[in-house]
Amino acid sequence: MSIIRINNIDLCVGSEDGVSLPFIHDACMVVSDGEILYAGSAKDAPPTLPSDEMAEEVIDGGGRLAIPALANAHTHAAMTLLRGVGSDLNLNDWLNTAIFPAEDRLTAERCRIGATLGFLEMLRFGVSACADMYMFMDASGEAAALAGIRACLARSVVGDENGDGGRLAESIALADAWHGAEHGRVRVMLAPHAEYTSTPKIVRAIRDAAVKRGLGIHVHISETIAEVEGCRERRNGLTPPAYFESLGLFDAPTLAAHCVAVTADDARILAEHNVAVCHNPVSNLKLASGISPVPLLYGAGARVCLGTDGAASNNNLNLWEEIRLMSILHKGVSGNPCIISPAQTFNAATLTGMRAMGYNNVGLLKPGWRADVTLIDRSGAHHQPLIDPAADLVYTTQGSDVYLTMVDGIVRYRDGQYPGIDAERVYESARAASRAMLG
Ligand SMILES: [Zn+2]
Repeated sequence: MSIIRINNIDLCVGSEDGVSLPFIHDACMVVSDGEILYAGSAKDAPPTLPSDEMAEEVIDGGGRLAIPALANAHTHAAMTLLRGVGSDLNLNDWLNTAIFPAEDRLTAERCRIGATLGFLEMLRFGVSACADMYMFMDASGEAAALAGIRACLARSVVGDENGDGGRLAESIALADAWHGAEHGRVRVMLAPHAEYTSTPKIVRAIRDAAVKRGLGIHVHISETIAEVEGCRERRNGLTPPAYFESLGLFDAPTLAAHCVAVTADDARILAEHNVAVCHNPVSNLKLASGISPVPLLYGAGARVCLGTDGAASNNNLNLWEEIRLMSILHKGVSGNPCIISPAQTFNAATLTGMRAMGYNNVGLLKPGWRADVTLIDRSGAHHQPLIDPAADLVYTTQGSDVYLTMVDGIVRYRDGQYPGIDAERVYESARAASRAMLG
């Protein structure tokens, strides 16, 4: 049994219901084989807990705040190689003139390097799990195993009347190889890329495969108004959520990225099928796609989680920017400062995202849950005088305040270092791969 103690911390348990967000002052944690045995007040810790002497590792939290690690529920990790490519274009031009030509030069090896860089960046910002949709996903699985991050992999499937080019078969092989691998840290979902890049026949085949194999679905839905208008023309007036519903796609647990151009009816459909909507405010703003009506989605009873999208449209994988934006954007749009609470935002950034990816025992710092823990340094000027810890967490915290990220009881990032990984070598390989792709 491997015991880790984290002493000298304050603790944020997380938000189970999006309403409460409890904090505990002067706390400690005890972790056994990656499972939380105790997370609570240091003075109330039962004497029967393993002591410091019995622990394999004792981490001095130095008074920092321990929080459940973050969940980045929509990204394309290897697109770190395309960071900064085609800036200041709209989604269509950005994809067709900048991204697709560069992606034609992708290889499995380049994806492995790009995904490794993406995972290191996420760990650095306190993220312990991500939903990664892209191509050459075996390479992404290898990168996730190296970085030690939780990754829910999805090979994005596109196609037309001539078929999907073997991409669904590739997705199923990916699931056979990786679903549940790395002690359950790597999972697989099936991914119809979007309504406009597939046919009803392809979507039905993906739906059937997902239901048969008990896999979830990861899909882009209603990212822009143009997408929705095109969908209505192609699909007898249906919006993307109504179209996918008509094909039974939501019979499998579904994670839907964006949902920017959605109506009240769409929100009702998404809520009815328990679809997890991944809000990507930075990417949507940068590509001028719009702002997802998160309060409308919450009002309909939909689940909301947070994602960065790829580094090519963001341009970083720092989920703290999404946390801050989700907190303030909808207040500004609605004219109502009460519309989104810190607990709601933090729940979206942690527990709901974890559940959307199928990590059902991750996202709260409670006994019996997996030890995915991020330590936040609040000693900087910008955190003083620290009157309201919930407000401080979502409105004040910077990505650079992350001191340590633990995934499944293993420290994967600490104070600028990635134990066992030569980050400088990864950066150098990424620069070389990027140069080769951009010619
Ligand atoms: Zn995306």
